[in-house]
Amino acid sequence: MNNADHGRTDPGLDKDDSAADPKADPMSVAFAEARAAAARGEVPVGAAIVRDGRVVARAGNRPRELRDPSAHAEMLAIRRACEALDDERLSGCDLYVTLEPCTMCAGAISFARIRRVYYAAHDPKGGAVDNGVRFFDQPTCHHAPEVYGGIRESEAAELLKAFFEERR
Ligand SMILES: [Zn+2]
Repeated sequence: MNNADHGRTDPGLDKDDSAADPKADPMSVAFAEARAAAARGEVPVGAAIVRDGRVVARAGNRPRELRDPSAHAEMLAIRRACEALDDERLSGCDLYVTLEPCTMCAGAISFARIRRVYYAAHDPKGGAVDNGVRFFDQPTCHHAPEVYGGIRESEAAELLKAFFEERR
């Protein structure tokens, strides 16, 4: 998959990129990260974190590249946002992600005190928000964000489908 037609010349972005277009629609930023992840051979999932209408962190999946099973887009975005805001909590921040978060990411979202989660595709196989363990609904979950799923769902699902079909 070629990333050039998505307007990014450097798919291996750094956190500095989050300042590139602070007014960009955050779900579009997440999608750009997902496409960049696909171009790197990673499962195409991207995330962006917003505070006060400004994207403070963005990331795509990197488990293969980093040899790190925890390097999901949400985890990397949370780490970068905490670093950027110099805080271990992201109260008042909203997370945009192209796929329903898994159990690990849902846990990190809760610990980070993220205010709202907007996700694109539902993930019946690996999701933990509206599928699976429904992490935020458990009594052991001490902070649950507001959740809005299914935003641009078909676009995200198509991206994932194309990625896995290419690798068959
Ligand atoms: Zn995850």
